[in-house]
Amino acid sequence: MAKFKPYIKDQLMLFPQSINEYVPDAHLAKLVDRVVEQLDTSDIENKYSELGQNTYHPKILIKLLFYGYAIGERSGRMLARKTETDTAYIYLAQMYKPDFRTINDFRKNNLEELSRYFIDIVRLCKELGMVKIGRIHIDGTKMKANAANRLTKSKDDYEEWIKKTQQTIDNILEEAHHVDEQEDSLYGNKRGDELPDDINTEEKLKDKLEKVLKSFKTAKGKINLTDPDAKFMKGGDGKISAAYNCQLAVTEDQFIVGADVTTEANDRTSLQSTIKTAEEVLKEPVREVIADTGYSSYENYEYLSKNKKIGYIPDQNMTAAQQQNQDKYNQQNFTYDKAKDIYTCPEGQKLNPYKVRRVDSPHRKWRQITYKASHCQACPSKTLCTTQSQRTIERDDRRVLLEEMRQRLLSKEGREKYKKRLGTIEPVIGNIKHNLGYRYFLLRTLKKVQGEFRLMCIGHNLKKMHRFALLPA
Ligand code: SF4
Repeated sequence: MAKFKPYIKDQLMLFPQSINEYVPDAHLAKLVDRVVEQLDTSDIENKYSELGQNTYHPKILIKLLFYGYAIGERSGRMLARKTETDTAYIYLAQMYKPDFRTINDFRKNNLEELSRYFIDIVRLCKELGMVKIGRIHIDGTKMKANAANRLTKSKDDYEEWIKKTQQTIDNILEEAHHVDEQEDSLYGNKRGDELPDDINTEEKLKDKLEKVLKSFKTAKGKINLTDPDAKFMKGGDGKISAAYNCQLAVTEDQFIVGADVTTEANDRTSLQSTIKTAEEVLKEPVREVIADTGYSSYENYEYLSKNKKIGYIPDQNMTAAQQQNQDKYNQQNFTYDKAKDIYTCPEGQKLNPYKVRRVDSPHRKWRQITYKASHCQACPSKTLCTTQSQRTIERDDRRVLLEEMRQRLLSKEGREKYKKRLGTIEPVIGNIKHNLGYRYFLLRTLKKVQGEFRLMCIGHNLKKMHRFALLPA
């Protein structure tokens, strides 16, 4: 009996085979293929002229990019290489072999359209019943910009630099080339993320420095030479670097339905826009919003209340406030009567409104009311309660929103919903950053980075779709 299956090197196939047969039906590449076939890509197709040389159909390049982003391979060079050796890529490329420049240029020139397909794919998931709508989890993560930290400088630094440029331009160029070489050794030669064309000669560098100096008229703080939109931000590892803040809205099923990138290090200012983005994508209102303390503010609580959304967002002082509950005479243990607008102290005395401070600016409008007791002198607990002659309490008139939020979070239902946050949105961020390895952007400037982030989110959603499709019916 033969020991091995026939082994005949260089044997010719007797019958032509369909490339479809090289990839199993349940493979992620098949899903990517089907999804991209569903997309209306005429916006990109219409950019091509019938004149000139034939080129690859955009759907082929979109499939390569989406599949690559779904499995953590986004370098144009790597994608091009895989179309020669990897059956999934060969299948998606229909045996064409686009070179890395074609892939990189396609991504760069069609980023806006590609990022719009994020919306189409979320809506497709919704139509297929994969996405549970109504409750979203919001969180942000800092992702490094494609910019060397040492090229982030203040106005004074740039002025000093431009002086030096005029005098010793060769030295500075050497430094720029050194950065270039470092990046090349990390990412390969001319992959598209080396020092950009606009600073690779002495004259261009000088022009660029002068432009950067001009932009200080509108910008604050420091500007990075290679990516002027990137800002110094503290990452999850505690290190400060030139980065962007990526905001995500995720459903309970871990589909990303809202994805944006901001240059604000603070998450608080992004809550409302992230909810609005998710609602536009889903074409439905969101009922419940769960986010961490980084998103708590009276402005956000007011927005949720006005728009009839139920929030589960603890404030920074909530844990401290719970601990203060042990102190009988802490403000937490004074009961507020909303109807009568009075406080009652633990000894039963009333504290009435005493004075009001109004804050009235275009962005902030509220009243700070001080409540005052009137018979503290005779109280046996006075030394435990106050050092003033009469105890006072300050209350922001929006505090009722904060109290409602705390009550909701401390309820059994609230605790359970907030606890789910850890297992819902954090694994999504973990998947993007750790499994897929997207810890930095390849592209530069906010608009392009926003597009690239959407590609990462498309990759994540396609993988979720694939897992969903593999679930037993
Ligand atoms: S000091 Fe005044 S406010 Fe404090 S417990 Fe006594 S009566 Fe109440």
